[in-house]
Amino acid sequence: MSASVPPDYTFASDNTAGLAPEALAALTAANAGPTPSYGNDPWTARARQLIRDVFATDAEVFFVFNGTAANSLALAQFCRSYHSVICHEFSHVDTDECSAPEFFLGGGKVIAVPGPGCKLRPADVEPVFARGHGVHYPKPGALSLTQATEWGTLYTPDEVRAVADLAHAHGLAVHMDGARFANAAAALAARGHAPADFTWRAGVDVLSFGGTKNGMATTEAVVFFRAELAREFEYRVKQGAQLASKQRFATAQWCGMLADGAWLRHAAHANAMAQRLASALRAAGARLSVAPEANGVFVELTPAQADALAARGWQFYRFIGATGYRLMCSWATEAATVDRFAADFAAVASRR
Ligand SMILES: *Cc1c(COP(=O)(O)O)cnc(C)c1O
Repeated sequence: MSASVPPDYTFASDNTAGLAPEALAALTAANAGPTPSYGNDPWTARARQLIRDVFATDAEVFFVFNGTAANSLALAQFCRSYHSVICHEFSHVDTDECSAPEFFLGGGKVIAVPGPGCKLRPADVEPVFARGHGVHYPKPGALSLTQATEWGTLYTPDEVRAVADLAHAHGLAVHMDGARFANAAAALAARGHAPADFTWRAGVDVLSFGGTKNGMATTEAVVFFRAELAREFEYRVKQGAQLASKQRFATAQWCGMLADGAWLRHAAHANAMAQRLASALRAAGARLSVAPEANGVFVELTPAQADALAARGWQFYRFIGATGYRLMCSWATEAATVDRFAADFAAVASRR
């Protein structure tokens, strides 16, 4: 293979995909004429209501530009400068946000703990409460869970509840990083669970509801499941430089995606492409690092195999240890591309 093979970014990230057609059409629809600014517009009101409908509850909803802001501002709402946030050691909050959570807490500390499958269990979290002695160690203020996780696994409603109950028993708030919430919702819907079942009904206080990886641009929602928890959050959003003056172009996308269930259809497609990819790779003899439950596939590759796939143009990242590579699927991933990758893997793997 020559180095002139054009790069294919399909599996590098769910962010390499463009806008879903419903989000794109909504941008044009929102471009119809003078409309109130700073979120005082009909699109924003409708998007808020559609999000309340998703969760079948009277949530308070805010919009920010990205997931780091959603997570950091949501966590700061519950934590003072001497508090800590407990999260998984592979969570985006700890590994991918350049200590923005600590910055917005004004000095707090993120405490990362291990747990199998990229998930937290009560037994993993419990020891943190025994750490330190009194005022000499930061006081735990919030627990953050990721759904779907950074490894493409899912918390069941019972698993969320178990860890949320422990957090609440110690006076912590429970945050869910839902950058890939749509993928989790689509996968769990197939098991009979509604979004409410694995959020507020399971003890989640605040959710970072991802729009971007679902097929929108530059928009994430922060959803507080009880009104009193959202007190003065609008000031935090503004001070955090996250209030969009033309907010309608963010919220119109939510309207387009939520109005007729496109968000779940697109997420279900991404999940199905991940399953297709996982099956094809397994059939070609690949070992997966973890069983895929959402839209990511994590495959074990030797350095030679990874190099050979890169030489065929495939762009993707090493993610788990020295040998686990991440392949993300999105609303835009085509079955033919999945099959082409799997065929290339089979060719590469059969070489000695
Ligand atoms: C992508 C992602 C985010 C958001 O990242 P930004 O680049 O800040 O938008 C947050 N959490 C997880 C788990 C993610 O995968």
